[in-house]
Amino acid sequence: MTVTTRFAPSPTGMLHIGGARTALFNLLFARRHGGKFLLRIEDTDRARSTPEATQAILDGLDWLGLTPDASPVMQSERAERHAECARAMLESGKAFRCYATPEELQARRDEGEAKRQTAKEDGLSDDERAALRAEADALLAPYRSPWRDGGEAPAPDAPYTVRLRAPGDGEMVLEDAVQGTVTIQAREIDDLILLRADGTPTYMLAVVVDDHDMGVTHVIRGDDHLRNAFRQIPIYQAMGWDVPEFAHVPLIHGPDGKKLSKRHGAQSTLEYREMGYLPEAVTSYLMKLGWSHGDQDIFTMDEAAKVFDTSGIGKAPARLDFDKLADVNRHYMRQADPARLMTLVRPWLEEGGALSDSLRAAVQQSLPSVVERASTLPELAEAVAFITTPRPLPLNKNARKALKGEGLDRLSGLRDLISSVTEFDTPHLHDAIQAYCTAQDLGMGKVGPPLRAALTGGLPAPDLAPVMEWLGREETLARIDDQLAAPRDDI
Ligand code: GLU
Repeated sequence: MTVTTRFAPSPTGMLHIGGARTALFNLLFARRHGGKFLLRIEDTDRARSTPEATQAILDGLDWLGLTPDASPVMQSERAERHAECARAMLESGKAFRCYATPEELQARRDEGEAKRQTAKEDGLSDDERAALRAEADALLAPYRSPWRDGGEAPAPDAPYTVRLRAPGDGEMVLEDAVQGTVTIQAREIDDLILLRADGTPTYMLAVVVDDHDMGVTHVIRGDDHLRNAFRQIPIYQAMGWDVPEFAHVPLIHGPDGKKLSKRHGAQSTLEYREMGYLPEAVTSYLMKLGWSHGDQDIFTMDEAAKVFDTSGIGKAPARLDFDKLADVNRHYMRQADPARLMTLVRPWLEEGGALSDSLRAAVQQSLPSVVERASTLPELAEAVAFITTPRPLPLNKNARKALKGEGLDRLSGLRDLISSVTEFDTPHLHDAIQAYCTAQDLGMGKVGPPLRAALTGGLPAPDLAPVMEWLGREETLARIDDQLAAPRDDI
């Protein structure tokens, strides 16, 4: 048996961050067991499914590197196969034709609701009230069709739905890999519709047929589908198919412990890209959201794929923690190769316009030092603003102060020494500044501020010698000259 998992999103919106985690768990489980991870787009609800949403899901998975091992199965393309299975169940006697019309079913529900209301009214005896409640409960209970045991069609061409005969009385038990033993009363399950009166298959049927045909051995999904498992298992049994293992994972909650919703901020996976998180940081963070393994906090995909198991998934909903995500992102930004980091940060760097090649090179060189100062890509772009701000650099208040009177004279003296540095690298530039300090008998406290002001305009920046090395001779001297030449009343 090849372990086979699947992610089965409905393309009705974005790839939800909880969905991304489900996909990730399925992928890791498959990898751990040397199996396959598949993708099925559940687009049977034609009215709500859109190609754009399908694309958004594919893009989100692609961004996170959650690539399935085969091309996606489109559920809507398999309707004929679903119907064929329903017919097979009809033939084997597991399913039956139900002639109840939607109007009759609605009338039954309305009557149930009406009795439930009447039971609340004043002036009834306890017995009357109890009787009304019992009638209401029976009418509102999961539907058991009067045709489940056969019976004549009301008319020769009367429309019918195909329903699966629900299990009789007693308990239904599911051994769930996350939830443990889950028991419900068989009475809670209705005679499930498999084919609608127009011959189209229902979602519940489609899921089971597809999972079977795709060879799915393990269904790992959100626990909002736990009850569906009890409706799906009888379909497997009616078809004589093996029932897969189920693992129903608690949903993700917001930092406040409430179900994740819009007010918590980003729900869509691609929004995390827009916020400047690295994909490997998001997957690393997501896998620890609800799953644990020993004390290890940060796992790469490869590390997790060696140890992932559903036994490590907690029963309680995990809470999204943006500070933790920022920490994980910081970790992965530091690990990233500067050339890749440069590619990632570029959209933020060039928000205000394209950078020259030399400034881009300067940024890339600075990244290993500057990355310490950022948790996200926009923060990183901000941390290199001292490089990317176009000349002449605007000066903040401190920079203006540093470039008054003596400060300006020192800048001029420094310029001479800096321009004579032949190897324009950190050690030589450092020596040049030191030489100026020694010659003038001044400390760095007097010499640094005017140079820093000219080079950065007062923006946060690391040590000045590396800053000059990154900027290069031409840009360094141009920035100094801008200030030496600036009309003084501007300062
Ligand atoms: N299409 C369902 C959803 O998006 C998932 C069904 C399943 O995993 O069985 O919630």
